[in-house]
Amino acid sequence: MGEGNFPMRVLKKVLTVLAAAMVVWGLFFYFIFPPASVSADSPKTLYINVIMANFSGARYLPWTKETIYNQLFASPNSVNTFYQETSFNNVNLSGKVFGPFTLPLSQTCDLPTVAAAAKKAASSDYSYSENSEIKTIVIAPFNSARCGWIGYALLGNDLIGIDSLNSNYLVTLAHEIGHLLGLLHASFYNCQNSLDIENSCTVEEYGDGYGVMGNANANMVYFNGVQMEAMGWLDTSNIATVTQSGVYNLEPLEVPGSGPKVLKIRRAYNQYYYLEYRQPLGFDRNLASVSNNLFQGALVHLAPDKSFKSYLVNPLASGDKVNPVVPVGSGFTDPLTGDVIAVASQTPQSLSINVSLGDKLPAGLSSLAMPHQAGSWILYGKTVYFTDAKGFIPVSTWPIFLSNGGKKEQLESANSTDIALIKAGWLSLPLMARKDKRVFVVSN
Ligand SMILES: [Zn+2]
Repeated sequence: MGEGNFPMRVLKKVLTVLAAAMVVWGLFFYFIFPPASVSADSPKTLYINVIMANFSGARYLPWTKETIYNQLFASPNSVNTFYQETSFNNVNLSGKVFGPFTLPLSQTCDLPTVAAAAKKAASSDYSYSENSEIKTIVIAPFNSARCGWIGYALLGNDLIGIDSLNSNYLVTLAHEIGHLLGLLHASFYNCQNSLDIENSCTVEEYGDGYGVMGNANANMVYFNGVQMEAMGWLDTSNIATVTQSGVYNLEPLEVPGSGPKVLKIRRAYNQYYYLEYRQPLGFDRNLASVSNNLFQGALVHLAPDKSFKSYLVNPLASGDKVNPVVPVGSGFTDPLTGDVIAVASQTPQSLSINVSLGDKLPAGLSSLAMPHQAGSWILYGKTVYFTDAKGFIPVSTWPIFLSNGGKKEQLESANSTDIALIKAGWLSLPLMARKDKRVFVVSN
């Protein structure tokens, strides 16, 4: 018996290893090659086949096909309505639901294998078709206690698995569809010392409870401003980038208006504060059950420019992710730049934020291992850097003002001619940083 079974056991083991490799390979592609963002000009329809499946010996599908269809595509609270609203009509979902089928498989967490069996079962339905544009969602009693997940997106396969034992499967589905669109998790910087991001913070991967890419507390709520910008769901007029001290007004994130919804304040090389104003409008009415003070001030994230990944921070009480808002009358100072950011006033239509830029240079994040003198230009490789006490800032990413007979000419980003110009005189260039320290004046 034992010997007779031996080749079969080896085969099973090989298949298990292959299946695991496929999952790892999917994750690899997911992290290394995230899908391109959606352009704001091209509304995107996600076509989806939803297949309801039971395992032989493990059956649990508490919904009818019609219920699933309504909850995903048709009802006012459907995942489709959610995506249309939160993407400002840049994304919508369209699909069909098939099943339920009982698959000739015992309970397994091997999503590709389950999907193959589910597709085979669904192909018996005359209205079933598949092509490279169509995503597949399999709803089955995977059992998160065994699998370690309640929802799972395999990007290479355009495939999502949902555990039917998870009663809150809709918000999970909205999260996994976010992954299919390219989004990463909405995390929380849990810091010992507020805003000492570089030294005292740990990342809680799902710690941002104010978006479905984080722990959205079982509710579909808006994506944050960082992720909405990355997806191309905001117009340029919706994004205000601070270049000088002053008062900036934000409209609520949920309003489909043309005014600024996101305030970006640079704090380091490719790292920005993103401030947004949330109100109990549309799907964000679901936030009322999460936090009482959320609608009373600014929600603050940190992220690189146009990032699929975001980090919630609490500038006032660094470890508190439940009440992270900076309320009216409060503010904070960024330790890197000295920028003072304060929330001045609010109405239901507008949040007023006072920004006073500090007199410290934003630090370059990369530190090259070479001695340097603060406040000078240096040439390293093919790039000219401006140095400050903490690091190097590549000149090509900074606006440069040349003083030319008293007339200043802005060069939005240095091209090779500008670099040559700077290189030609870089040892003797008199250099002066402007008040806001974000541009430099070079005498030529
Ligand atoms: Zn996820």
